[in-house]
Amino acid sequence: MKYHLWTIGCQMNSADSRHVGAALEALGGVPTPDPHQADVIVLNTCVVRQSAEDRAAGFLWSLKPLKERRPGLVIALMGCMVGVKGNGRLREVFPHVDVFLPPGDARGLVEWLTERAGQAHPPAPCQGEPHPPAPVESEPHPPSPSPLRGEGERSPSPLAERGLGGEVLAERGLGGEVLAERGLGGEVLALVSEPHPPAPSPLRGEGGRSPSLPTRKPGVSAPVAALLGCNHVCSYCIIPSRRGPERSRPLDEILTEVRSLAAAGVREVVLLGQIVDRYGYDLGATAPRLPDLLAATAAVEGIVRVRFLTSHPTYFDDRLVEAVATLPAVCEHIEVPIQAGDDEVLARMRRGYRVDDYRRLIERLRARLPGCAIATDVIVGFPGETERQFQATLDLLAELRMDVCHVAMYSPRPGTLAARTMPDDVPVEEKKRRLDAVNALQEQIAAEINARLLGQRVEILVEGRQKGRWKGRTRTNKLVFFDDDSGTDWRGRLVDVRITWTGPWSLIGDVVAA
Ligand code: SF4
Repeated sequence: MKYHLWTIGCQMNSADSRHVGAALEALGGVPTPDPHQADVIVLNTCVVRQSAEDRAAGFLWSLKPLKERRPGLVIALMGCMVGVKGNGRLREVFPHVDVFLPPGDARGLVEWLTERAGQAHPPAPCQGEPHPPAPVESEPHPPSPSPLRGEGERSPSPLAERGLGGEVLAERGLGGEVLAERGLGGEVLALVSEPHPPAPSPLRGEGGRSPSLPTRKPGVSAPVAALLGCNHVCSYCIIPSRRGPERSRPLDEILTEVRSLAAAGVREVVLLGQIVDRYGYDLGATAPRLPDLLAATAAVEGIVRVRFLTSHPTYFDDRLVEAVATLPAVCEHIEVPIQAGDDEVLARMRRGYRVDDYRRLIERLRARLPGCAIATDVIVGFPGETERQFQATLDLLAELRMDVCHVAMYSPRPGTLAARTMPDDVPVEEKKRRLDAVNALQEQIAAEINARLLGQRVEILVEGRQKGRWKGRTRTNKLVFFDDDSGTDWRGRLVDVRITWTGPWSLIGDVVAA
């Protein structure tokens, strides 16, 4: 059985996909990058932003002719498009989908495949599809007919693929090429379709998650879900309704997964949660919290770096600051969204803090963690956002000078409070202007911050090669490229480089020690 796993959205989805791949490989599955060669295709979806939903729907529609030619092909739809409660309407809209799965839970697919395998005449494995046009992930998919949109929602824009102005490029390569797109909340809208390390263990734990025991070489850095769902009700956000309430994974389950990843060569773990700082809150007063999880993860043999995201200004307490300050493996890299620089807008967003609270947090972080990098998120064009309120956001960004600002244009998500009660009254061209203004300001700030690293020696963890160069990241998550023709395999190694060139999105250096 060959399977193709297509993933879009946040790092949580990437972590979920690893578990799906593991579950399929436990059934004897082998990953393939070509959907036309696959017997099973799983789409792991995101609906946080309209463009991500359009992209998933477009890919799904492009699979319909393939399914008609090969009825034995299994198509599974997973993730936030389905949600924890399922989505009955999807069955009508996409009748060519066989299985619908909630976020991170492959059990339904495993049961379905197991049951089918027990039938008298299981469909023959795919012999290869010679000619159908391949839906290449890096290419835009056909525009969705948009069956999922509610009344009054905007029709898909032909520019939706990159946002009407390319909502944010948090990371760019040397030539300015996009390495990752980000959406609301800083989630990466990058596509992943890689082989995932299989788990021979049966599915267990939250959402059918099993601590994976990889046999294939995974990446140098791996996302690991710590906390699932969210109890907050930010008025624009669809995540609580799609991923359910907050649930922390047991510490030992997370550590088993981290150990298995370390055994497979992973050197860095990124602990994930919608509000990762709230890890353990739902497990009782004496349960381990995020600082405990960070310490335990950092102690796993083979793990040299630990990151965590995403934080919330309300929950970044002193104990967490101390954990970052004192645990050598925990990186000085904080992702804590502000979303808007105006108290009235923040109140309508239901974020639960004021601008001054955020200011004080940034002061506290910089006082205890000198040299730390802080990334934030901003939404522009939220309902009712006036020019003065937008200017307050720009002024705050200029004042706080963050290392990264992920900016997205507001788009109403069906079922959210904002979509129900707040008219989407900022014209799209105005949203685009505001987005461009934030990007221009942030580019200048990031260039100035990074320029301070010129001539400095920094430690990077090498992730691999890109366009003929080695690339890695500093502890502060800055992307660094270096050249080396010696034939050394630097992947997974901690290397000291001296920075010789800086730009807003990346740096270049020379190796000085490994
Ligand atoms: S904190 Fe707010 S924006 Fe983040 S996932 Fe929860 S509801 Fe969504």
